Amino acid sequence: MTLTSGLGGQLSIDLGALARNWRALDKVSAGALTAAVVKADAYGTGIEMSSKALHAAGARFFFVATPDEGMTVRAALPDAHIFILGGLYPGAANLYIRQNLMPVIGSMAMLEEWLGKCIERNEAYPSAFHFDTGINRLGFRLNEAALVRERIERLGYAPQMVMSHLACADQPSHEKNRTQLALFGSVMAQFPGIPASLANSAALMTGRDYHFQMVRPGIALYGGRAVAGRKNPMGTVVTLHVPILQVTEGRTGESVGYGATYTLNRNSKLAIIAHGYADGFFRSLSGTNQRPGGKVYIRGKLCPVVGRISMDISVIDVTELGSDLPMPGEGAEVFGPHVSVDDQADAAGTIGYEMLTSLKGRYNRNYVGDGRLPE
Ligand SMILES: *Cc1c(COP(=O)(O)O)cnc(C)c1O
Repeated sequence: MTLTSGLGGQLSIDLGALARNWRALDKVSAGALTAAVVKADAYGTGIEMSSKALHAAGARFFFVATPDEGMTVRAALPDAHIFILGGLYPGAANLYIRQNLMPVIGSMAMLEEWLGKCIERNEAYPSAFHFDTGINRLGFRLNEAALVRERIERLGYAPQMVMSHLACADQPSHEKNRTQLALFGSVMAQFPGIPASLANSAALMTGRDYHFQMVRPGIALYGGRAVAGRKNPMGTVVTLHVPILQVTEGRTGESVGYGATYTLNRNSKLAIIAHGYADGFFRSLSGTNQRPGGKVYIRGKLCPVVGRISMDISVIDVTELGSDLPMPGEGAEVFGPHVSVDDQADAAGTIGYEMLTSLKGRYNRNYVGDGRLPE
């Protein structure tokens, strides 16, 4: 067990904003069911609390990656419909059935194991079928569709849903989207009357052509940017404040941090924050004289990281604050309303998804509000 004093970083999760984001996406996809993707600890926000808030907002269909995540959602939400994106783990059929989890089946081996269990118990346990339309990850290959159909027709089995996943949804004008959409149409034609699902957050926001009967947003629920190069319309869910430990001075010509990768070109005021790569503040956010790094928000201004990010601490140049310097114990916003997760991710050379799911650091998680919204 880890003991906490409450003195570390404060990660605040706005469950009201999460619920509003789900409702907003549910409006955009009116006519389709809006699921919620809560894999990877609900993108770092906490799978139990976030799933409950999404359920209170109206979500009934949940996607997770692993059976363990499925069990966690099941324990929190006895009536939820839960799909396991990783499919049927070998030997896990009994567990899925006991927990009422639906595998997203994507191979003949998974299909045979699931159907075998259905035959053994003489019951058509629900599942989804995933067809690969061009991302070359999980899923049946397209040329298996006829075989799959024949196999289930003989048994009188039908999946709850057929689905696929887009490779380039974050770039709406990428031609691969239209190609995958057309190929998905050919899959659907093999399974007439079965509900279909293709859209992640970005495809949901791109247009109705991608909605079908169910949409599967993840990142947009948590306030992340789904579509590249466009203003992000979603509300901020995750805010991280970390404490400033010390405010100090450095002189022109001195270097900052390991490897002496940053040299001060003026007499500077430096704030040392209790936040390093062990907390998910990627080392790629380090600032050198050649390449700026991340920024954090202190006393109304965005202030740059200087030098290398260490395991537990980072150095922030607060010279621009003039005489309005922060006090030790004061918080610096790493992301939230003034620094978006995506701005920070851009500076790190990664994506908001990785920033959020890397938040396994030494912070206190606080929840604000819940999923219950005024109608
Ligand atoms: C993660 C995932 C999603 C959600 O994607 P976002 O880009 O976070 O909206 C949807 N479908 C599948 C198959 C996924 O793996």
